[in-house]
Amino acid sequence: MSATSPDNRNSTDWSAAAGAALYGLDRWGDPYFSVSDRGHVMVQPRGDRGGSLDLMELVQELQGRDLSLPLLIRFDDILEDRLERLHGAFERAIAQYGYAGRYQGVFPVKCNQQRHVVEELVSSGRRWHFGLEAGSKAELLIALSLIDDPEALLICNGYKDQRYIETAILARRLGRQPVVVVEQADEVERIISASHELGAAPLIGIRAKLSARSTGRWGSSVGERAKFGLGIPELLATVEALRAADLLGELRLLHFHVGSQINDIAVLKDALQEAGQIYGELTKLGAPMGYLDVGGGLGIDYDGSRTASSASTNYSLQNYANDVVATVKECCEPHGIPVPTLVSESGRALASHFSVLVFDVLGAGSLPGAVPTPLESEALILRNLRDTYAAITAPEASVEALQEAWNDALKFKHDALATFRLGYLSLPERGLAEQLTWACCQAIAERIKGLPAATVIPEELRALPAALASTYYANLSVFRSAPDTWAIDQLFPVLPIHRLDEKPEALGSFADLTCDSDGKIARFIDPARSSGQGQEKPLLELHNLRPGEPYWIGLFLGGAYQEVMGNLHNLFGSTNAVHIRLKANGGYQLDHVVRGDTNAEVLEVMEHNPELLLERLRVASEAAIGQGSLGISDARRLMAHLETSLRQTTYLQG
Ligand SMILES: *Cc1c(COP(=O)(O)O)cnc(C)c1O
Repeated sequence: MSATSPDNRNSTDWSAAAGAALYGLDRWGDPYFSVSDRGHVMVQPRGDRGGSLDLMELVQELQGRDLSLPLLIRFDDILEDRLERLHGAFERAIAQYGYAGRYQGVFPVKCNQQRHVVEELVSSGRRWHFGLEAGSKAELLIALSLIDDPEALLICNGYKDQRYIETAILARRLGRQPVVVVEQADEVERIISASHELGAAPLIGIRAKLSARSTGRWGSSVGERAKFGLGIPELLATVEALRAADLLGELRLLHFHVGSQINDIAVLKDALQEAGQIYGELTKLGAPMGYLDVGGGLGIDYDGSRTASSASTNYSLQNYANDVVATVKECCEPHGIPVPTLVSESGRALASHFSVLVFDVLGAGSLPGAVPTPLESEALILRNLRDTYAAITAPEASVEALQEAWNDALKFKHDALATFRLGYLSLPERGLAEQLTWACCQAIAERIKGLPAATVIPEELRALPAALASTYYANLSVFRSAPDTWAIDQLFPVLPIHRLDEKPEALGSFADLTCDSDGKIARFIDPARSSGQGQEKPLLELHNLRPGEPYWIGLFLGGAYQEVMGNLHNLFGSTNAVHIRLKANGGYQLDHVVRGDTNAEVLEVMEHNPELLLERLRVASEAAIGQGSLGISDARRLMAHLETSLRQTTYLQG
């Protein structure tokens, strides 16, 4: 545990607003997250339309219902608000540009397949005939069973075998609108044969491989070497194959997908122009068409910087909708081609905001900064280190003197290690040497903090506070709950959900529960760009822990992809999850509680049998009782712990 600091609640140079600015909450959080005067994160689930919840109090109340941390809180109102914003943006753009068509979106199920989430999107989206996009057979099953609106689109992407295609064709007889998108050249043959076999055809789409390339992580999702989509020669061959099979009349949709998280709007504009021209050419070739599906990729401003950097976007939702509408109109109207219904498959943009992961900090490890009491007779190296410490803390010490003292401290530490290796320094003495070195480091960091702002401070000394940073132990598995921080270096806003009215006095990063050194959160958004390395920093300003008081951290904007890509590394299972809805008269209701995986459940996933496991241990403890090495009451206690553990979630209990 790090030392407790004096209560900073009343310090005059700090306020809840300063806390909001420090973590960039006022930028990426708008309009759903803000900070109260009490320094708690507030959630406005309905955006600008009023109503708010104190996240800290909400978590306290959920804990009272035995929903322990880590806890995933899903705000269904936010999901609905995102849908409204998306549709609102397209409606405004369509009105502004006098677009003679409409917008009709779908949700790509792969972004979050959780039943309650997809159900919520389908039911909230009904008023716009909002549909679903499936990328696999299992996702197709979800989409088929949940959509009952005959006008909603059901876009079928991904690799498709005969059964997938036949299922889509037959679903049309159920009154659904499945569009089978040809993503690979050989799929058209399967569509043709399935259609002949069944005497019915699906609505057909073609995914084009565009030459416009996205920048950033998903840049390779487009271009000639992309995994999906048809190049122009293949696209033309597909049209001819459909014509020959008398199916060209079912070719209704052109699809492209530039990759996720488009950072730079210029990329989208290029893609739209190219796709708009291809669309026009397809109608000239005799396809009825009617839909242009611009795929996903609508990005999220994770760091609030509004730039084309990887954690941000240089456009707003409205800019995006305007560009789609205006560009498609420009491509069609001059050629007398009727404008298509615009479809988008925005996943990240819809689902990122609505869930907040809250986890607790179990403790913090920091380096000992205190000066140890001297031994009776100390080795010369230790006395040297004490003299160095005295030089640092002397009131008249200049910056040069501090630099010199730091060089000395490092040299003495080095000498102490060499002397220890040769057997001339005892283990306790080596321990003292290390402690004294850290005390020097701490003292220099303190001195630097007190210097006037204009003072030129050598780089090495400026780096010392970071060297002193603490590790905060998080009750969480990064691999389970925020896998993209590990897999693709994704940045998410992370911050305490309380104490924001207190100036954080520590710097730290998080280590998770797994025994994996990659199990950490050590990259943070940097709203102040204080690190000089762009929009991220390796350490986060955090508060010192107070004994007996919880310290709760929120990870925000992780509603898309994180849950569903999470894995069972070290057998940490899903966390508890709840669905919260704001009530009309204030307060909230708990719509669904989804209990996290128990230890028994994760063991079963790996084919272990919890009963058998218990039985083996029961036999072993009987044997130990027989040998007299285990008392009966201890045996009972052991069995009780085992049984309880199997029933509980995989995380640490408070
Ligand atoms: C993943 C994917 C999407 C969703 O992308 P977002 O960036 O989350 O909007 C849409 N369409 C296709 C074909 C995809 O593969």
